[in-house]
Amino acid sequence: MSSSELAAAGARLVEAGLSPGSTGNISVLSNDDILMSGTRTSLGALTDDGIAVLDPDGRHLGGAKPSKEWPLHAAFYRRDTAFRAVVHVHSASAVAASCLEPWAEHSAVPPLTPYFVMRVGQTPLLPYRAPGDPKLGEDLFGCPWEIRAALLANHGSVVVGRDLDEAVDRAAELEEACRVALLTHGLPRRELDPDQVAELAHRWDSPWLEPAPLQ
Ligand SMILES: [Zn+2]
Repeated sequence: MSSSELAAAGARLVEAGLSPGSTGNISVLSNDDILMSGTRTSLGALTDDGIAVLDPDGRHLGGAKPSKEWPLHAAFYRRDTAFRAVVHVHSASAVAASCLEPWAEHSAVPPLTPYFVMRVGQTPLLPYRAPGDPKLGEDLFGCPWEIRAALLANHGSVVVGRDLDEAVDRAAELEEACRVALLTHGLPRRELDPDQVAELAHRWDSPWLEPAPLQ
């Protein structure tokens, strides 16, 4: 894994409009080390000098100063060794959805389209913490459900993937799911029913529980 792949993923996020004002951060595992965009770097113009190298516990091994949001990344890697890349963004629809009451405890975002269920899966809302608060990582690590994505209250989204391409695609799919949820918010909308969701989740091996939505 090279820093150029991290730069390419950053550029894709910017092109997709997911990094307003150069916000957000991305990382990828290289062996067991975390290569992560540095603090105050632009995701659209990442260079070798702008990439931090951390060990799995977050110790800074070299390169740029890491983003203060590194605990989010380390927590996702600790949860499941199959995941090799993390994307965290402050994209508008994900942020807006993170400011609403969650649809259900296990997913802030309702299952309105098959693609959200297949490609993202249940996406719980983690409680508000100031950016950089290490408790954000603890909240994510302690999340009791299988997840590949979460919303951070009044802040943004974080997703994982088996590689950078999958993580970037997942961040884009979650952004669209949040946008569709916002466009239909308050309207007499039709959600996928629990059987439809369960069938999709099973067929696509996507994480989704089936408790009733919060009232
Ligand atoms: Zn953030």
